[in-house]
Amino acid sequence: MARRKYVVGNWKMNGLKAALDEARAIFAGAAEHAAVDVALCPPFTLIGAMADAAPGAAVGGQDCHAAAAGAYTGSVAAPMLADAGARLVIVGHSERREGFGESDADVKAKAEAALAAGLSVILCVGEPRDVRESGGAIAYVLAQVAGSLPAAFDPARLAIAYEPIWAIGTGLVPTVVDVAAMHGAIRARLGELSGPAAAEAMRLLYGGSVNGDNAAELLDAGDVDGALVGGASLTAAKFLPIVAAA
Ligand code: PGA
Repeated sequence: MARRKYVVGNWKMNGLKAALDEARAIFAGAAEHAAVDVALCPPFTLIGAMADAAPGAAVGGQDCHAAAAGAYTGSVAAPMLADAGARLVIVGHSERREGFGESDADVKAKAEAALAAGLSVILCVGEPRDVRESGGAIAYVLAQVAGSLPAAFDPARLAIAYEPIWAIGTGLVPTVVDVAAMHGAIRARLGELSGPAAAEAMRLLYGGSVNGDNAAELLDAGDVDGALVGGASLTAAKFLPIVAAA
């Protein structure tokens, strides 16, 4: 069965209100590529305004708390994201796993909270450079998948993003052969964990230094259903060529 391509922009900690014009331009341009699902994940502060500025567009968060509400100063819960107009959320990004000490169990709890709130989820996994160099990348990532996967989920609402940490923001990308091997291994493991039908339906995104020049080749690799894009998602000029390549 055909999986629709999915291209998601992660704005990270970038974007003031003035950037809403760029978001409008991105969603307007993306509408010309009807076969591709496009989403943008701005900082929390822009979610509501972006959802209002681009009615019908898929706007998402970059993280959520695992609890639905409570005494967690500074945190944002999944139902709050949904209430603000978000349709999806990224969980387990390496900048959260590494910078904020999030474990696989934390990421799993966040993914489950997001699904319970009616959001779609992009669950990130990826190995550090030393693990890649020592030949352990696939085993490392498959352990993250097994440890972070929600206990139950609708495969249409859960995508996995493979983002090698050493490729994020560096301009380095794995070979197409390595990307295909990793994505094939992830899909096979998903089959063991959740059954072949779920594994077949789930979208697997590649992330890490995707740009307009390398997107076509990366998106064409086996078992790659889309891209999670950081730096190149901040402007329509850089992001729309990636959408077009999908
Ligand atoms: P990058 O970031 O495209 O800037 O490498 C990707 C990501 O961290 O999601």
